[in-house]
Amino acid sequence: MEARALVEVDLGALEENYRLLKARARGEVVPVLKADAYGHGALPIARFLEARGVARFAVATLAEGRALREGGVKGEVLLLGSLHPLEAEEALRLGLVPTLSTLEAARALAQRARALGLTPRAHLKVDTGMNRVGFPWEEALPALKAVEALGVRVEGVYSHLATAGEDAAFVELQRARFLEVRRALGEGYFYHLENSLGLLLHGGENVRVGLALYGLVPGFGLRPALRILARPTLVKRLRPGDRVGYGGVYVARGGEWLATLPVGYADGLPWGAVGFVKGPSGELCPVAGRISMDQTTVALPGPVELSAVFEVVSADFGPTGLLAWAEARGTLPYEVAVHLSKRLPRRYLLGGEVWEAVG
Ligand SMILES: *Cc1c(COP(=O)(O)O)cnc(C)c1O
Repeated sequence: MEARALVEVDLGALEENYRLLKARARGEVVPVLKADAYGHGALPIARFLEARGVARFAVATLAEGRALREGGVKGEVLLLGSLHPLEAEEALRLGLVPTLSTLEAARALAQRARALGLTPRAHLKVDTGMNRVGFPWEEALPALKAVEALGVRVEGVYSHLATAGEDAAFVELQRARFLEVRRALGEGYFYHLENSLGLLLHGGENVRVGLALYGLVPGFGLRPALRILARPTLVKRLRPGDRVGYGGVYVARGGEWLATLPVGYADGLPWGAVGFVKGPSGELCPVAGRISMDQTTVALPGPVELSAVFEVVSADFGPTGLLAWAEARGTLPYEVAVHLSKRLPRRYLLGGEVWEAVG
C-alpha cells in the first residue's frame, strides 16, 4: 500500500455477489449504480460489469447517467428517478432510458424526440403501494396507452417495494398488484420489481439490486466489497488525564497507546459513531474521542510503527465492518455507504492485481 490511506474495492467479491444474485433471480439482475454505486465508484464498477457481459444498469439521476456515458459505458442506462420534463432533451441526447410517472414528462419526451429526430424510449413506473412515484397500478393500462399514443416506445414496466425486509404481507400485496398489471398490459415489456431484500427474502424474476451487490446484506453468502485502510500519522503513549480530540471527551487513564489515523468524517466515517477499527494484528481498537473531519484517534494495546496498516472499515460483517459502523451511528448501511467520499485514492482489485486506480 503506497498511500497513507486508501479505499480498496474487491471486484472479485462484487463479481461473486453478482453471480449469487443471478443464481437466485429467475430473470435479469440489473446493477443499481446510483449515488456513485453506494460510494463504491459507479464508473469503475460499470466498466468492470460491462466487461463481464452486463448490458443494463440503473442510476437515479441524469448527471449519474451522463457520468457513465462520458466514462465510455455503452450499455443501457435506466434512470430510476421519475423524469422531469426539463430533463427530456438531455436524456435523449445521452441515450439514457428515462422512467415515466406522469403524462407531462411523457409529452415532453415525445416532443423533444421529434425535434431531435430521435426515438423516445422509456420504462413506465407503476405505483403498487409506495405512493412516491409511478402511475397508480389500477390505471396502468390507460397510462400505457396514453404514453404509447404520444409515440413513446415503452420498453419496460416496473414498480418498487416499500417494505422488503419489514412487512412481508405488504410485499405480497405489491407483488400481486404488479402481477395484475402484467396480465393487463401483456407480455412484450421488460417487467422488473424486486430490490435486494425483495429478491433475497421473497425471490424474484427481473430485479434491481444495489445493497446486496456491494455485499452489504449479511447471511446470504454475500461479501462486502469495500474496505478502508490507513497508516497512522502519529503513535504515542498518553499520560493520565490527557484529553484527546475535540471537546476533550476522551480522558486518558494513563499508559494507553494512541494512534492518529488520517481518515475522518469527510472521508465518510460517521461522526458521532463510537466504532472500532482493526489494528495491524487484527486487534480491535476503539475510537478514542470524537472523529474529526480528517482524522480519527484510536486506542491501541501497544506501540506500532507508522508503516502499520489499520483496517478502518473492514470487508466483513464484524465489529469493524461498514454495517457495524452504521449501527454504531444508529443509521442505515445505505447512508454510511453513500457518504463515502471520493477524497481518498481508490484501488479496484481483481485477483490481487490493481484493475483500475483512481486518485
Ligand atoms: C435504490 C433502488 C433500488 C436498489 O435497492 P437496494 O435495496 O439497494 O437493492 C432498486 N430500485 C429502485 C427504484 C431504487 O431506487
